[in-house]
Amino acid sequence: IISLKHMQKAYGDHQVLKDISVDINKGEIVTIIGPSGGGKSTTLRCINLLEEPTGGEIDFHGENILNPGYNRNTFRSKVGMVFQQFDLFENKNVLENCMIGQELVLKRSKDEARKIAMENLEKVGMAPFIKAKPQQLSGGQQQRVAIARAISMNPEVLLFDEPTSALDPEMVGEVLEVMQKLATTGLTMVIVTHEMGFAKSISDRVLFISDGVITEQGSPEEIFDHPQNQKTQKFLSNFR
Ligand code: ATP
Ligand code: MG
Repeated sequence: IISLKHMQKAYGDHQVLKDISVDINKGEIVTIIGPSGGGKSTTLRCINLLEEPTGGEIDFHGENILNPGYNRNTFRSKVGMVFQQFDLFENKNVLENCMIGQELVLKRSKDEARKIAMENLEKVGMAPFIKAKPQQLSGGQQQRVAIARAISMNPEVLLFDEPTSALDPEMVGEVLEVMQKLATTGLTMVIVTHEMGFAKSISDRVLFISDGVITEQGSPEEIFDHPQNQKTQKFLSNFR
């Protein structure tokens, strides 16, 4: 569904992504792990064009989205993102947060947007809180609303950048549980996480990114139980 081909990103002469090539298949759950500063967030931000890659290709259904003339708005509406800091609209309530993108971007009617938002708020267990404003909710609840908002846009691919790392420990589980459930729906997910147990259980494939390259990739068993690369071994030894 998405193929990165020799993707690069430089800030001035700082080459942050050196050569990232990977195919993400429909329905696949891919997690990205690796040391701080290795380029995990930059990889996600390039995939959804929050950052412009400085080299290589991003193919979406076989077409390079970086080509001049490619309809980026259509692409953007098909790739959702959930951030570390939830990023909800503070002045809007839970239901409105989940409706506004549908109305503005997908041009859905209010009734349709409300219906879809409600269905997804049910799925993440936030239907009882539709009138609440974000600051009245716990971090875990806010993040579940952010997930409901993202899936209300019917993305083909949903990207997550450390969705639980801003949460108090007791709230991590409820968010991971929602993601586990989503993973069984056939949605394609790319997840940057420091939750190694979660990564091991949810992933079809794990990418270890360090120094701007995919140093190693494989099944969860390959990466967590039998890492081949020294950098992967060293990184994972910090979590045992
Ligand atoms: P972490 O685990 O800490 O989130 P990461 O793997 O997500 O790390 P990135 O955020 O992708 O790492 O950053 C990779 C490198 O790119 C870092 O050295 C960072 O300083 C640099 N970088 C990121 N964004 C910018 C920017 N806007 N301008 C300049 N340098 C940047
Ligand atoms: Mg990051």
